[in-house]
Amino acid sequence: MDTMALSTEVGHRIRRLSPRVVNKIAAGEVIERPASAVKELLENSIDALATRIEIDVENGGADLVRVVDDGEGMHADDLPLAVASHATSKIAEAEDLFAVKTLGFRGEALASIAEVARLRIRSRQAGQTAGAELEVTLGDMQPVRPCGCPEGTSIEIRDLFAGTPVRRKFLKSSATEFSYVAEHFTRVALAHPRLAMTLRHNGKVIHDLPACDRLADRIEALFGSELARQLIWVEGSHGEAKLWGAVGSPALTKPTRKGQYLFLNGRFIQDRSLQHALGEAFRGLVMVGRYPVAFLFI
Ligand code: ADP
Ligand code: MG
Repeated sequence: MDTMALSTEVGHRIRRLSPRVVNKIAAGEVIERPASAVKELLENSIDALATRIEIDVENGGADLVRVVDDGEGMHADDLPLAVASHATSKIAEAEDLFAVKTLGFRGEALASIAEVARLRIRSRQAGQTAGAELEVTLGDMQPVRPCGCPEGTSIEIRDLFAGTPVRRKFLKSSATEFSYVAEHFTRVALAHPRLAMTLRHNGKVIHDLPACDRLADRIEALFGSELARQLIWVEGSHGEAKLWGAVGSPALTKPTRKGQYLFLNGRFIQDRSLQHALGEAFRGLVMVGRYPVAFLFI
């Protein structure tokens, strides 16, 4: 091939992408499907110290995801910053990265969502007489305006991927997308029993979880008393590491690892070696191809 000829073609020169294109690419990496938006919004509500979170989802989340919390809210002047990329209230300096106590800190989630959907934020901080509202449609921001709303924050995402029909078409059925949403809901609900949480799909209540003190009560509310009755509570430590939670009795197994919930410092994780360790602990007690149920916190 004649490289000299190639290098003179305009199409082969290096160009900087416009911030708009950069944001769109980044957005696609953060928000893959409705469940990723739900995960980000739930984390934000928890970081805002909410005690109650209500989630409404329509059509698996493709048409609507709405998360309403009673957390500390945002100042009206901060709303445009909330949807700007690399804008966060959670860290300021590079060294803060080593002491992050919140679930989020990259300041990317709302910016990404605003780029790929119709986003509406309503928020009111304690002590403020009125709330503020901001709408961003596929990256186009309207001015902030006052609105009446309760203390806390309501975030509504409509028509996810409306600007990218191919991506929208790649979404699975409403039932499948909703099952991903429900899975994220379950993980957060297990990690935060003291949080009252409601999940509705197309107006139907799927979970309505009261705040509770004990993980056992949360597990029962999510999975039923039949499962909760067959749990064995465990506790142990190794050096600085502590482990506690519950495992299912050997009679309570599943055909996949989906019944295994592992949390590290309050975050859901999936980890091969921990899954393997759990399997080893049950070796000889469960049949090959069956997996124990577990709710373990490290
Ligand atoms: P990050 O969580 O990484 O900071 P996000 O894009 O998720 O980035 O959110 C940007 C900022 O918007 C947060 O740092 C926070 O200050 C504010 N914010 C977002 N959601 C909420 C909420 N539900 N309640 C209060 N503040 C919020
Ligand atoms: Mg966040």
